Amino acid sequence: MRKILVTGALGQIGSELVTKLRDNYGVDNVIATDIKEVKTDGPYEIVNVMDGDRLFDVAKKYEVDTVMHLAALLSAKAEENPKRAWDINMGGLVHALEVARELDLQFFTPSSIGSFGPSTPKDLTPQDTIQRPTTMYGVNKVAGELLCDYYFERFGVDTRGVRFPGLISYVALPGGGTTDYAVDIYYEAIKTKSYTSFIAEGTYMDMMYMPDAVLAIIQLMETDASKLIHRNAFNVTAMSAAPEDFAKAIRKHIPDFTLQYDVDPVRQKIAESWPNHIDATAAKEEWGFKAEYDLDRMTADMLEKLGKKLKMI
Ligand code: NAD
Repeated sequence: MRKILVTGALGQIGSELVTKLRDNYGVDNVIATDIKEVKTDGPYEIVNVMDGDRLFDVAKKYEVDTVMHLAALLSAKAEENPKRAWDINMGGLVHALEVARELDLQFFTPSSIGSFGPSTPKDLTPQDTIQRPTTMYGVNKVAGELLCDYYFERFGVDTRGVRFPGLISYVALPGGGTTDYAVDIYYEAIKTKSYTSFIAEGTYMDMMYMPDAVLAIIQLMETDASKLIHRNAFNVTAMSAAPEDFAKAIRKHIPDFTLQYDVDPVRQKIAESWPNHIDATAAKEEWGFKAEYDLDRMTADMLEKLGKKLKMI
């Protein structure tokens, strides 16, 4: 990786990934792209991933050697408009893969724990297992994993990916996923010392703090290809947690924090179709993945950073 183009760069992952990539590889070597008009410190271009020619032209203009394709509709948003999700998630992906094939670029795109479904083993979900998701987002993610493997096998494109769990961060707000409660809870803990969760008590899902997610992407992309047995996509996780676990961790800092529930049936159904806890052994063995933040360490950092951001602590 020397020069990297990032699609969907203004989203929850992109806003932190671009900063870290620019620290590591140089500001001018990271081309951020998204659909919104913004001012940024480094190179930025408006690219709608539905326009494959535009994506090709920008990649060629900057002579990039890597594409990180993040532009997508997330799980809850995809369920609101499944056809649009199919068009953006699959159409955008195939355009980005075509650019990587034509310009011989290294390629990264994230899959998700949403690529699993109700028939997947729920605990210590293996790397290679049943993937029959029941959401449009999950269908897109499984199809995306297969398509990325296909581009590697058929055309030799160096495609790599991870199955991210719910990602927790304070820089950008999440974009409409099922695990968004695990970000909202910290905002509300600081603002009102109280949170009403749309996910039910006892619903366990995998989670990870954004700094670990960003490092995982860079580490996987920097790994010598000869070490990789799998490609699209590696299970990665840092913790398995339910809403009450977040509340318990928050109470170590804000003792009178209260948690109530007002469950959203749509997102609860999605959550229940996902694993409780996935097994990340393959990522550890093949490219040394290791998360640094557990729930308590993440909570301390989130409350401190978010407190400063919201200027209330
Ligand atoms: P996000 O919703 O925060 O950001 C997505 C970005 O894509 C937005 O800035 C949006 O403007 C942009 N976008 C939407 N349509 C576009 C289009 N047609 N052309 C160009 N840009 C477009 O998403 P995120 O959380 O940063 O997720 C990035 C990727 O990681 C997605 O593939 C997502 O499925 C995956 N992922 C995220 C999580 C998570 O918890 N955030 C977990 C698992 C996987």
